[in-house]
Amino acid sequence: MSNYSIQTKCVQSGYTPGNGEPRQIPIIQSTTFKYATSEDMGKLFDLEASGYFYTRLQNPTNDMVAAKICDMEGGSAAMLTSSGQAANFYAIFNIANCGDHVVACSTIYGGTYNLFHVTMRKMGIDFTFVEPDCSDEELQAAFRPNTKAVFGETIANPALTVLDIERFAKAAHDHGVPLIVDNTFATPVNCRPIEWGCDIVTHSTTKYMDGHGAGVGGCIVDSGKFDWWAHADKFPGLTTPDESYHGITYAEKFGLGGAFITKCTAQLMRDFGSIQSPQNAFLLNLGLESLHVRMPRHCENALAVAKYLKGHPKISFVTYPGLEGDKYYELAQKYMPSGTCGVVSFGFKGGRAAAENFMKHLKLAAIETHVADARTCCLHPASATHRQMNDQELTAAGITPDLVRFSCGIEGADDLIADIRQALEQV
Ligand SMILES: *Cc1c(COP(=O)(O)O)cnc(C)c1O
Repeated sequence: MSNYSIQTKCVQSGYTPGNGEPRQIPIIQSTTFKYATSEDMGKLFDLEASGYFYTRLQNPTNDMVAAKICDMEGGSAAMLTSSGQAANFYAIFNIANCGDHVVACSTIYGGTYNLFHVTMRKMGIDFTFVEPDCSDEELQAAFRPNTKAVFGETIANPALTVLDIERFAKAAHDHGVPLIVDNTFATPVNCRPIEWGCDIVTHSTTKYMDGHGAGVGGCIVDSGKFDWWAHADKFPGLTTPDESYHGITYAEKFGLGGAFITKCTAQLMRDFGSIQSPQNAFLLNLGLESLHVRMPRHCENALAVAKYLKGHPKISFVTYPGLEGDKYYELAQKYMPSGTCGVVSFGFKGGRAAAENFMKHLKLAAIETHVADARTCCLHPASATHRQMNDQELTAAGITPDLVRFSCGIEGADDLIADIRQALEQV
């Protein structure tokens, strides 16, 4: 890991060209790589030598971009995946098997909740969901002897709750398991969970990291700090020989810094194949180069929008962790002193109809399922992503029928507020 600032890492980490080599990272658009002898190739298959042989496992372009994100998060190793969904699935499945259990925050992204609650349960992995602000007793009570990990989001999408990373890391470590944090909304520009005791970081790079709505992608970063040997009985996949890889013991051969990501690549990427295309990795890197310039503007615009809406007579509530008085303001100040994210949610005194009516009249803010884009976009969960729920179910899920999720882009704040103002006048 380099000692440069996060700004410099965004621009320069991951790739340093040699004399006469391309300045921009090359797109290695090749499925396969050539070797002189079968013996050379055999060494790669045995993980005896490092090198590329097939892009489903590793590709140089992807590795350069993963190395940049790794440096930004302060990790020891990282890998790209085809999506954020794949990143979270791999991060858990790399250490939890059929018969195991995971403690997860209840306010996580809906897609991740579904993955855990429905799909991974079918695979025999059980989950206990806890509120991010549950008591210490409730948190302790969620653990079982077969618990293998704790999972949460730095800033939850779309609930905008803030995870007390130190508290959840301590609980995880007291039970001999790692804390996995999805850092999609904060990005390493605003929060580096590893500095607060988190062990593994995941991302949907689709959001701010790409930042332009160009490519779906994900990333997993390992801190290299979790001691698999100290809890060897819980993590046999890392501490005993892998028969599907010539008897390699990952934590022995690759050390604490390399074991998790090497196993994840050698087993899960080999078997499931959720790779990111090198083309998309190139686009992701373009986004990363300006991430540290865009994030402050996203946050500035969101704070301006939140402040404007807070006092408005037609608005019933405003949720934004960067806004003084918000339930999570103090935690946000602790973990993200230079800004949180660009997403604000709010509700209407006129209820569901007012929310729908408001959105119809917006001119700059587009109605999209997307968030965290350079262009402002918004969504009415009750009529889109959470459409199947009735009003009671919505309220139980913390999503009131009048809630609008508003993702501030990097346009001029005055224009965004003027757009909101004219739309509110027609409600
Ligand atoms: C969008 C999102 C995901 C899923 O990512 P995809 O790239 O859409 O698969 C996971 N976690 C969070 C916090 C997200 O916002």
